[in-house]
Amino acid sequence: MSVRVQPELRNQLIQFGIGDWNACYHCGTCTAMCPLSEEGFLFPRKKIRLMQMGLESEIESSVEPWLCYYCGDCTNSCPRDANPGELMMSLRRYLTSIYDWTGLSKKFYTSELWEIGSILLIAALVVIAFLVGLPAMGYSFTTELTSQGGVKINSFAPIHIIEAFDWAMAIVVGGLLISNILRMYYKIIWKHGHMKVTFWVHIREFWRLVFNFSVQPKFGKCDDKRYWFSHWLLMSGYTIMFIVVVVFLPWFQTEKIVPAWHLQRALGYYATFGLLFGLLVAIAGRMRRKDVKFYFSHVSDWLFLVMLTLTVITGILIHIFRIYGMPFATYIFYIIHMAVLVPMILIEVPFSKWSHLAYRPFAVYFQHLKRHSVPRKTKHSNVI
Ligand code: SF4
Ligand code: SF4
Repeated sequence: MSVRVQPELRNQLIQFGIGDWNACYHCGTCTAMCPLSEEGFLFPRKKIRLMQMGLESEIESSVEPWLCYYCGDCTNSCPRDANPGELMMSLRRYLTSIYDWTGLSKKFYTSELWEIGSILLIAALVVIAFLVGLPAMGYSFTTELTSQGGVKINSFAPIHIIEAFDWAMAIVVGGLLISNILRMYYKIIWKHGHMKVTFWVHIREFWRLVFNFSVQPKFGKCDDKRYWFSHWLLMSGYTIMFIVVVVFLPWFQTEKIVPAWHLQRALGYYATFGLLFGLLVAIAGRMRRKDVKFYFSHVSDWLFLVMLTLTVITGILIHIFRIYGMPFATYIFYIIHMAVLVPMILIEVPFSKWSHLAYRPFAVYFQHLKRHSVPRKTKHSNVI
């Protein structure tokens, strides 16, 4: 692989929130302190060196930024206040934009106007769809209640329409994410002509992807386990809610009010609790700014937290209003809920903060593919 120095890299990286990496004088303390840095995959000092040298392709083919869970130990121990933890965070934003072939990720990360404007535009389209689109298609809502006293929610949000829209959204977002992951694979594994990863290694190491997605053991290696726990609760709550809402919506959005211990409600309550707990920890941390991992906040960090909090709170209110037979309140908050949820999924999942949920476990998988790669044979291989 040819190595190209890109002098403009510094200016590009600054747009993603990277601070003053020139403060680093390469003492190596951060790498020694990092609980996740390991032989063959050393960071963060090595990555700072690549940034200083403008080695763009070396950075693009790195998995290390995704192996960092921002515990902050490196930042706390840096004698030059170079904040290596935040440098790694900024690199993750940069890499997200590099994997994304549409160019939208870069626009969202580097322009508040683009990100907030796109969110507002999609939210407005959702509101128009409910207030104009559905009535124009002949759907009219009712204020009559069910025999149990609940709201006839499917009169306002026809289940087959919402389900079709959910699937369309999941296919678009999934397609974008998968294509970006393939680009990530190309840059980390495929592009390196000198190494070869056998098909068997791809199969054998696949379990790491599933395991790291569901348990996040690397995060658990950080000294402070509280953040691993709150992050895991948040992530599991989000995953359950996503599966239930997209795959099992007709089972989940029912007019019949089932008992509180029914699986439908139990899953909803667990997901809500996990999301609220994780959000509370993250928001309180960013507001108090006592822990280094929360000291710097990019706009995308706050947007993601605000949108997810609004989604959860409106979801709770819809549930309460529906059960206690308050149709207008249910319908109004259903519109608000969807006006926040849809742009959050369409923008945050493939292009912004949420994409790390996919990139991290894949990075661990690719790390092990790299570890088990073998030198590719060339016609010069046998020449000593
Ligand atoms: S970032 Fe700080 S701790 Fe790490 S090598 Fe540079 S000066 Fe040393
Ligand atoms: S923030 Fe933590 S995991 Fe990330 S590089 Fe620093 S010490 Fe390592």
